[in-house]
Amino acid sequence: MLWSLIKFLIFIGLVAALAFGAMYLIDTGGGVRIAVANTEFSFGPVQAVVAAILLLIVLWIVLKLAGLLVATLRFLNGDETAISRWFDRSRERKGFEALADGLMALASGESRVAMSKAAKAERYLRRPELTNLITAQAAEMAGDGKKAEEVYKRLLADDRTRFVGVRGIMKQKIAAGDTDTALKLAEKAFALKPRHEETQDVLLRLQAEQHDWKGARKTLSTKLKYGALPRPVHRRRDAVLALGEARDVVDDSKSIEAREAAIEANRLSPDLVPAAVMAARAYLERDQRRYATRVLKKAWGAAPHPDIAGAFAEIEPDEAPKDRIKRFQALTRQNPSHSETKLLLAELNVAAEDFAAARAALGDLPETMPNTRVLALLAAIERGEGAPESQVREILTRALSAPRGPQWVCDNCQNVAGDWEPVCTNCGAFDALSWREPPAAAASAVRGPGGEVLPLLTGMPEMEPGPVENGDRGSAAQAEEVVEEEVRETPAPDTAPEPGEPEPEGEKPRTAAS
Ligand SMILES: [Zn+2]
Repeated sequence: MLWSLIKFLIFIGLVAALAFGAMYLIDTGGGVRIAVANTEFSFGPVQAVVAAILLLIVLWIVLKLAGLLVATLRFLNGDETAISRWFDRSRERKGFEALADGLMALASGESRVAMSKAAKAERYLRRPELTNLITAQAAEMAGDGKKAEEVYKRLLADDRTRFVGVRGIMKQKIAAGDTDTALKLAEKAFALKPRHEETQDVLLRLQAEQHDWKGARKTLSTKLKYGALPRPVHRRRDAVLALGEARDVVDDSKSIEAREAAIEANRLSPDLVPAAVMAARAYLERDQRRYATRVLKKAWGAAPHPDIAGAFAEIEPDEAPKDRIKRFQALTRQNPSHSETKLLLAELNVAAEDFAAARAALGDLPETMPNTRVLALLAAIERGEGAPESQVREILTRALSAPRGPQWVCDNCQNVAGDWEPVCTNCGAFDALSWREPPAAAASAVRGPGGEVLPLLTGMPEMEPGPVENGDRGSAAQAEEVVEEEVRETPAPDTAPEPGEPEPEGEKPRTAAS
């Protein structure tokens, strides 16, 4: 700052001095007389100016020669690089000029000129990290892939340019379709610069293409960490990645027909149900109810599951129980002999207070599959049909000690989850939940003493949803919720429906765990 001020002042001073000198020359009528020893030189005004310029040039040359002389003296005194340094200064100037020309040529699309200028700059400057960049870009522009790759490889040697080199070669490999090598290079580039958004996206795409779901999820969480992804988007994408096999069902870029085909293809996949539910919810978010219906209908045909029924109920959350039975025919007409279909139909009819139809729908399930859910439904039907209270309680007591039926169970730690999650909430295992009967030990371990459930059995109407419902989702509390819901929702003489509970959804017990 101070130095620029001084330079400015010197410049002003010089201009002032020149102006003053010129005025003086004009005022005196011209002529400068210089006396050297006994000889006198006299100049006219123009001659004086020319002489001054010549003097300046001579002075400049003398200064340069003096610099060279000093460098030579230093060289003679043992400083070996002194002379080359002196010459270097002019080389540097020429080098940077060539570099600037190269950049201009690159910007105007003259790849050949850019390459030759870069080569010239390299001769003068010996700064490969600068000149190689231009050469590589120019070679790419000219379509000379071989030359570009060669230069990129040279860039790998320098720490400062390694990332550019890796990225350049990676792009070439992607263009050539060599995704294996490209993936490795993308991983390397990602390790060098994890914040680089383009690298994150390329790596994510390559990992997904190669079905490296674990790696893809790691990349995704890095994206989240560096703020390149909003949290809800991350959660959804993460879940999609976790749905390894059935991911085409959830893939937003797929058409409804492609998704139906994917459901058909993944009939036996444990990921099918969560994938279909997720796809249907994505449609609902965009208010595309017809597509949501199609996805769930197809999924029910492939694998009936309470979660599918739950999502199907979300399509029309406020409809009357009778209308609901009618709309649910899209599901219940498929797989009519499947226990899940029977249960769904029974639940819908209980909600509509058509207990005879509910009993018919339940069929022989109380004998063949007496689990908590079946028995809770049976108790609700009995109560609805006006059976004595003691009989209802007897069924509910049986329901509590009955097997829970299939649930989302972690294959790693056997934890029972209320809802499907990409990661086990208990042990953190990835994609480990499967829909099955929990092992007996786990079921009894989480069931607890049962004391907290007993008040429910007495059918007390003022009973608030206690710790059982609001407590840990990952416990077998779900089954107790079934009992509790049934007790509360069934319009029995001594059990008035709670005013704050208007929704008579048949499948509510399952979807309650949301
Ligand atoms: Zn687990």
